[in-house]
Amino acid sequence: MKVGIVGAGMVGSSAGYALALTGTASEVVLVDMNEKLAVAQAEDIAHATPFYSATTVSAGAYHDLKDAGVVILACGVSQKPGEDRLALLERNADVFRQVVGEVLSVAPDAILLIASNPVDIMTDITTRLSGLSPQRVIGSGTILDTARFRSLLGRHLEISPQSVHAYVLGEHGDSEVLTWSNARAGSVSVASFADQVGRPLTSAVRAEIDNNVRNAAYRIIEGKGSTYYGIGAGLARIVKAIALDQRAVLSVSIVTPQVEGVTDVALSVPRVIGAAGVLMDLLPELDDEEHAALGRSARLLKEKSAPIRL
Ligand code: ADP
Repeated sequence: MKVGIVGAGMVGSSAGYALALTGTASEVVLVDMNEKLAVAQAEDIAHATPFYSATTVSAGAYHDLKDAGVVILACGVSQKPGEDRLALLERNADVFRQVVGEVLSVAPDAILLIASNPVDIMTDITTRLSGLSPQRVIGSGTILDTARFRSLLGRHLEISPQSVHAYVLGEHGDSEVLTWSNARAGSVSVASFADQVGRPLTSAVRAEIDNNVRNAAYRIIEGKGSTYYGIGAGLARIVKAIALDQRAVLSVSIVTPQVEGVTDVALSVPRVIGAAGVLMDLLPELDDEEHAALGRSARLLKEKSAPIRL
């Protein structure tokens, strides 16, 4: 599958690198308003691929996105001194208005994969701007938070994270919800597994895992300025589910008709992903506390996106 990436900064180029090395895409095309940057990133990534795959990587203009199955949107502008959050969002909405128009004029059948932050709001904006069905406008959402949750649980229980099934729901951000009540290790609840192996999930252990998942991005940003390898690999994982029609269950963000009484809000729940994009949602069974936390996250996102003028 040909995959386009608009925005060849750190996130876009990391996604291109992950797609190319894993051979998930047959062709990767990078587009950026900074053409020199796109050309340099494409050349650098192309030098890595012969060691691992036959993916071709190039820089291009919008017309080079023709026939792309997926286009990743990783473009955006950063905050100006003194600019408030809403003004920044409106400027990014302007960028997306232009970019989405260009992309859909050459690749009207592409699935749009949103990486720009705040990802849930940008997913909502892109859905409104594009007029596409929400199933085809997918935000990376909590895919990375879920991966971190599974990996920390796996480490505590001393089993592979692939044998842990646990999801982070809601906003990709401070109000996200780690769903402990339905988390499973193999075929049993994580709590039961933890007791069986003598490593109980005490409230201190839970609090530490929660803090590690929720604040991971802050820690990375403090150390190196921004995060990109993790999200690059997460984006490649979503593309793989689409390219191979895997029907994989991944937590991603799309505009969802109704969550905890909040309507038409973009946030993450586990969803089945295949060739047509999101095929169905899986609303997990939650306990009362998790229901309430997911409701709070949904209301917060709705309040954040409502004032944005498009
Ligand atoms: P991140 O760390 O999220 O990747 P960057 O600032 O490194 O952030 O990357 C954002 C990229 O988006 C930049 O390379 C920038 O040139 C690009 N970009 C911004 N506006 C547009 C636009 N209108 N069209 C194409 N690319 C854009």
